[in-house]
Amino acid sequence: MTDLLQRYSSKPVPRYTSYPTAPYFHKEIGPKTYAIWLNQIPKDSTLSLYLHVPYCARLCWFCGCSTTITGKPERIQRYAETLRSEIEIVTKALPTKMLVASVHLGGGTPTMLSPKDFSDLLDQLRNRFAIAMDADIAIEIDPRTLNPELIKILSKSGVTRASVGVQDFTPRVQQAINRIQSFETVREAVENLRNAGITSINLDLMIGLPHQNTDNVVRTVELATKLKPDRVAVFPYAHVPWLKKHQRMIRRTDLPNIVLRREQAEAAATVLSRYGYIPVGQDHFALPNDPLALAARTHGLRRNFQGYTVDNADAIIGFGPSAIGTLPQGYVQNSPELHVWRSKIHHNTLPTERGVSLTTEDRCRRLAIESLMCHYFVDLENVGLNKDTAVVNVTAFNTMIGDDLVKVEGNRLIVTDLGRPFVRNISSCLDKYLSNIFLHSRTG
Ligand code: SF4
Repeated sequence: MTDLLQRYSSKPVPRYTSYPTAPYFHKEIGPKTYAIWLNQIPKDSTLSLYLHVPYCARLCWFCGCSTTITGKPERIQRYAETLRSEIEIVTKALPTKMLVASVHLGGGTPTMLSPKDFSDLLDQLRNRFAIAMDADIAIEIDPRTLNPELIKILSKSGVTRASVGVQDFTPRVQQAINRIQSFETVREAVENLRNAGITSINLDLMIGLPHQNTDNVVRTVELATKLKPDRVAVFPYAHVPWLKKHQRMIRRTDLPNIVLRREQAEAAATVLSRYGYIPVGQDHFALPNDPLALAARTHGLRRNFQGYTVDNADAIIGFGPSAIGTLPQGYVQNSPELHVWRSKIHHNTLPTERGVSLTTEDRCRRLAIESLMCHYFVDLENVGLNKDTAVVNVTAFNTMIGDDLVKVEGNRLIVTDLGRPFVRNISSCLDKYLSNIFLHSRTG
């Protein structure tokens, strides 16, 4: 295993929350195209909405999100106003008042919104969209910024699911990532959310953090299970200080190596399985009756920018800087810079900065990669691919067959148990965009 981990971790591969992946979005897809795409969405479609809140009270040094640190409530209030203006611009471009099955507020820290701003935002969504009675309304929570008044508003606004950021309960690890929060803080947040009727709880943990070892991962997971969350995500930390400068505060020498990271992931999975959690995809776990676990069992699991999901909407509309939308015609992404996003909205323009339109082949490859990532197999014929041409990086794929990571049975590619940690590498063999770069750099 050590040899496999070392060989396959030497080349970075995408997380495949989309296909094509975001680096292949381009500027030819801008506000005009987005307006046309929005207008072309069939009126009977179901939408999913993502609202980004790019503010946090303190910077966690492991953070890979798009966020700004602020202590100024008026700044966040101005942001909420602009977000509401964006909702107006987008809904004017849609063909009708459309049905919404799920809303996700992410960040940053959406709980930085004041109770009034949160309530106004949800009211506006309900005015402009037909939010389904049983809509899944989810919010990412920093337990350190949660207060009783906000919890009351979350509940009143119909929030159904809360994703609480934990990472690790070990003080030394918390110091090294600049995120100090006690088990008591998390317990109180979870209890208060449940008492307010927000009963679906997800806890976000991490492995691969500085000073983390298998013992403190096990202890963190044990403590997390005491809170009986419906879902637990165990994300691997990605150390990319050349992209996220604040990660320079984390010393590379304090990070566990690839073998220790694998041990931590396996230890977390073992503890969760002992407490009855079912593995879902690469890094999620859910209680057997949770919709995510049911979807994993019935092959209904999906993958999008929020990770593993049961969301089956026809289109995802993103609001806020850097937010990505998935439309039947392709992907769009808003300007990541706050001031550019704001200025476009103030000029009554959709703040789209880039995107990519999907070809028929892209759609087939997207289905194939999603199937591998969610279910560890794909029937190439079922997704419209030819078994002789589906794999584009044949050399790498054959090496993976030789390493017993994947096998081919008729039209099916099947990831072996040994190959599961390498499913992203296996998926990358079907990625035509990545393969083009690879071929270009070899011949160029
Ligand atoms: S609270 Fe979340 S988004 Fe904000 S800095 Fe920490 S990890 Fe990043």
